[in-house]
Order: sequence, then structure tokens, then C-alpha cells
Amino acid sequence: MSAPPVSSTVLSFEDARRVVEEQAALVQACATEFVDLLAAAGRVLAEPVAADRDLPPFPRSTRDGYAVRSADLSQLPATLDVIGEIKAGENLDRIPPNIGNCQAASIMTGAPVPAGADAVVMVEYTSQRGKQVEITRNVVPGENIVPRGAEARGGAPLLGRGLRLNEAAIALAASVGKSRLQVYKRPRVAVLTTGDEIVDVDATPGPTQIRNSNSYSLAAQIGQAGGEPVLLPVAPDELQGLRRLIEDGLTSDLLLLTGGVSMGRYDLVEQALAEMHAEFFFTGAKIQPGRPVVFGKCGKGAPAREGPATYFFGLPGNPVSTMVTFELFARPMLESLAGESPRNLIFLHARLRKEIRIKTGLQRFLPAILSGEFERSEVELVAWQGSGDIAATARANCYIVIPPDRECIAAGEWVAVMMR
Ligand code: AMP
Ligand code: MG
Repeated sequence: MSAPPVSSTVLSFEDARRVVEEQAALVQACATEFVDLLAAAGRVLAEPVAADRDLPPFPRSTRDGYAVRSADLSQLPATLDVIGEIKAGENLDRIPPNIGNCQAASIMTGAPVPAGADAVVMVEYTSQRGKQVEITRNVVPGENIVPRGAEARGGAPLLGRGLRLNEAAIALAASVGKSRLQVYKRPRVAVLTTGDEIVDVDATPGPTQIRNSNSYSLAAQIGQAGGEPVLLPVAPDELQGLRRLIEDGLTSDLLLLTGGVSMGRYDLVEQALAEMHAEFFFTGAKIQPGRPVVFGKCGKGAPAREGPATYFFGLPGNPVSTMVTFELFARPMLESLAGESPRNLIFLHARLRKEIRIKTGLQRFLPAILSGEFERSEVELVAWQGSGDIAATARANCYIVIPPDRECIAAGEWVAVMMR
């Protein structure tokens, strides 16, 4: 049964990320289901959504004021005859059929602009006395009117498959009458924590034991990324027990292991997976935290290599490494399984508050605090004790991203920031 040792493939951050993206592009999204619009936020759309009619369905006034012929305002002030009042949702038979020369209709925001009028003057520039209105500002044709169909023509595609539904997409679905949407089911993501020293949250740890935090941080990140976490029991640092739990984990859509991927004598995750004939895409990335991160796929069923394969990540056990490597590598794979179209990793930029000195060779993702608003935003590292320091990371609200060739970054320089 013993497998040859796993040959080491340590990639740069960019290469490792590219490998994950390439594999993510090959996966098939989960099955679909229908959900109520109220439950659709954050889900990934599995059907195209089109306009059911022109948007807007009538020429819409964007202001409270008077619908006018702009040519009537060439001499100011102008006095026009008010021939009607149009509120939003007005019955068609109450809307003046035409605005003639030197006529106007009082109109509200969201109301249909009557024929003949080509602009709306804001109420602020008018004063009405009886059936007449005096206007002190002119308008250009089209001002304060959104023409019928200008936002979308009836039948035009509005939202595409693979879109994660945010509040604007939900509003658009509502505005075209989609009270239920077809979305992709959430991928099931197995979480397998390894380590003889790890006890569950409810247990009283012995003097050298620590509580399992990685399963919980990962469950939170999986949920945010659109997956459904499936927490497996903690695996021992022993091959047989580890393999049994890996087999369980491979029945999910994605398997995340934490711990057991470093160089220690009891870091057995790669060996266990190699014995199960896993394919490894990389066994490390030149990043910190998270250097020992592993990515591969492994067949499920017996013999493992003949069943359909499940992707897995071996995330380093140090809690901050687990969190960072999830964001950088596991997230794009999970999003792809969730049906989401690929998207770029976006880093913001902010000014560095205090100089950073660091060794070269690894791309760093260091916990930091971003503060200040607008052009005054600044970022500063939190004091930390390394990638096991959960308390420092909980104080942080982002990571400063430092390229591998930088040794010193001066205060005041712009640096890349990954939000969390
Ligand atoms: P490993 O990657 O297994 O060598 O673990 C690296 C460090 O992370 C060790 O200090 C472990 O005790 C710690 N660690 C591993 N797994 C967990 C976990 N699930 N929760 C909290 N800390 C962990
Ligand atoms: Mg361990």
C-alpha cells in the first residue's frame, strides 16, 4: 500500500493561484434549486433574467416639477398654462394627451411624462399661481426624463448565470417580477482538522492541548463564500485513522484539511493522500503565512483512483495560515463549485503608516488595521506573534500584501491591502 514520497512542488503565489484557477475552470457547478427572492441574496444565479417589458415602461420624470416644451423657455421668466397634475402611478385617462405650446403639467418624480413635453423643470425654479406657473430656469430637451426603454428594452438580458446576487441584482429581479430564482445549490465542503493535540470547543483542554479553532474559522469562511460546511471529527496524527476520515471527506464536493502538511514527523496528510493515489498540483507556495499549503485531487471510492475525483486543499494548521490560504486558494475553487463566474482577486491600496522591514523571498499577507476615510486611509501592521496568533488577527481588519522582492517599505508608501 505504501506510496512513493510526494515530490515537492513549491510555486510562487501567482503560479499557485493560476493553477487553482485553471482547475476551478474545469469543475462542474452543483445542481440547481429554486429559492424565494427574499432568500436569494448571496446565492449564485443559475438562470438568465431578462426584462419583462421596457425599463422604464414609460418616459419617467426624475424630478418633481413641471413637464414642459423646452422651446417655450427661451425667454425667462416664462409663464405657462398648467393643464393637469400627474402623480406617480397616475391613471392613463387622467394624463393630458398632449402638452401644447405654452402649456405645462405639474408632475411628480416617477410619473409618466405626457406627449408633447420634452423636459421637466424642477419645482425649485417655478412658482404656481392659480392655473399658471412662472418658470425662471430653462431646460435642454430630455432634461430630467428617462426615455421609455432607456435602461433596458423588453426581452433584453439583465442578469446572467454565474452572478452572485447582491442587493442591486435582487432589486433588478424584483423589478422584472421574478419572485423566485433558480440558483445553484451550495457546495458541501468537508472540513477535516488533524492533530493529536486538538480538542473540541466544549472539551476542557489538558495542559498541552489546544481547542480546535480552524474548523470554526473555516466554517465561517465557507459559509461566506457560498458553501455549506460539513465538519468531520478531528483526525489523529496516525495514518489509518486519518485515511478513514479523508475517505469520508472525499464524498463531499470539496475537502479542506487543516494541519499535518508541514515537515514534522507527524505531518501525515500528504502521505495519507499519496497512498490513496491523489494527484498533487502543488505542495507549497512562496507565501507567508501558509507556505506548506497543498492542492490536489483524489478519487473517491475503492480503489480511490477509479472513482470520480474530489479536489482537496491541505491548509497549514497555524490558524492564521488556515484563514489566509483559504482566501487565496480554496475560495476560488469553492466559488466555481458554487457556479460563480471567475473573478479577480482585488487588492485595495492604502498608505502605510509605519515602516515595514521584512526578509525577501515570500509574498506576505500580514494582519493589519486599515483606518481613515477617503484619501486619508492608512494601514498599519498589528503586533503579532506569528501565524499562530489568533488574537492579533481578530484585532485586524485586513492583510497588507507585500511582494516577495521587498525588504523595506517606507511609511507613506502605497501598499496593497486584502480585505477580510
Ligand atoms: P500543523 O500544521 O499540524 O503542524 O500545526 C501547526 C500549528 O497549528 C500547531 O501549533 C497546531 O497546534 C496548530 N493547529 C493545528 N490545527 C489546529 C486547529 N484545528 N485549531 C487551532 N490550532 C491548530
Ligand atoms: Mg499537526
